Amino acid sequence: MIHINEFNFEDKRVIMRVDFNVPLNEKHQITDDTRIRAALPSINKILDTNGSVILMSHLGRPKEGPEEKFSLKHLVSHLSELLNKPVKFADDCIGGSANELVSSLKPGEILLLENLRFYKGETKGDEEFAKKLAALADVYVNDAFGTAHRAHASTTIIANFFPGAKMFGYLINSELDSMDTILHSPAKPLTAILGGAKVSTKINIIENLLDKVDNLIIGGGMTYTFIAAKGGNIGSSLVEKDKKDVALKILEEANIKGVNILLPVDNIVADRFDNAANTNICAADEIEDGWLGVDIGEKTIQEYIQVIENSKTILWNGPMGVFEMDNFAKGTISIADALVKATEKGAFTLVGGGDSVAAINKYNLSDKVSYVSTGGGAMLEYIEGKELPGIKAIRG
Ligand code: AMP
Repeated sequence: MIHINEFNFEDKRVIMRVDFNVPLNEKHQITDDTRIRAALPSINKILDTNGSVILMSHLGRPKEGPEEKFSLKHLVSHLSELLNKPVKFADDCIGGSANELVSSLKPGEILLLENLRFYKGETKGDEEFAKKLAALADVYVNDAFGTAHRAHASTTIIANFFPGAKMFGYLINSELDSMDTILHSPAKPLTAILGGAKVSTKINIIENLLDKVDNLIIGGGMTYTFIAAKGGNIGSSLVEKDKKDVALKILEEANIKGVNILLPVDNIVADRFDNAANTNICAADEIEDGWLGVDIGEKTIQEYIQVIENSKTILWNGPMGVFEMDNFAKGTISIADALVKATEKGAFTLVGGGDSVAAINKYNLSDKVSYVSTGGGAMLEYIEGKELPGIKAIRG
């Protein structure tokens, strides 16, 4: 496999898949440019070493061909500011205008192609479409981790046309490094903290992690399926009745494999799903009818902090409670703080997948943990042990 640092980009045309699927407001202004910034190191590396860059991405979910609100032209001026150089724009990702602009592209210059998903061939993984994109360049770089779990034309199929000139960009490399640290070479003890709403969406991750972790901390809405399965009273808390068997199997497997599995011992309960609800604190398995668990309690927080601060490698996915409501956010904030402390003590800490990333950003702690993943679905699938098509296309 070729590493981006070892490749000579001099006079090469590089087509690079990035994830510029950024949120835009009604005036088509970017409201969060994290994904664009994440691709800058790879773009700059190629431009600085005298290659030219052709960027391709999707934006939103256009249904039938081009739509103004999903045009990547809205990103041109901001990208140009970030790179401190002009960015050319092709109003079609294949065909006349793209070909023309590409043929006049000089070393050190950059061109952004229009939204790939204006063509159905992109999400269908169409080979002809991929071939037309491939014809624009000498080298293929994939730095779009957020779409690496999709076998689309620009993320996977296109790689076939670059047998000796395909590689990951810096973003995908660092995402893979951090996940591989957790999965294959963690300093021990290794702790996974899993929260969020449902057990059903986390079963595969738990299964894969049970062979690797020393401690598995459970929080959030999925707690109550475990507690109910063990015969506890969970009142009106979130529960997946058809997953109680799975919960029991997980507990049994953890026991057999010597994994220390931690469930909440106490909870904050509310009399309705509302920030202004009446609240109380009670033992995790003694929630009365009419009350529902919305956060982990103080005893649980202290227990969890102890384990986290004594761990050397930590993965966190999913909030500990309904953190979007301020009164039910303490558990999630405390876990985030514990992760920061563990990081300060030298632990490797990875936060990834959906709402735990939202939480760590909300509390402005993202630069105080070792790594925050940019890829929700892709990250979860990788941790589940699945082979991601976009990764396989390059790694082989
Ligand atoms: P997930 O996408 O599975 O990680 O779930 C995240 C969601 O789980 C967030 O919107 C939280 O508000 C929600 N959540 C966390 N704890 C609870 C709980 N005790 N009851 C209901 N929802 C919860």
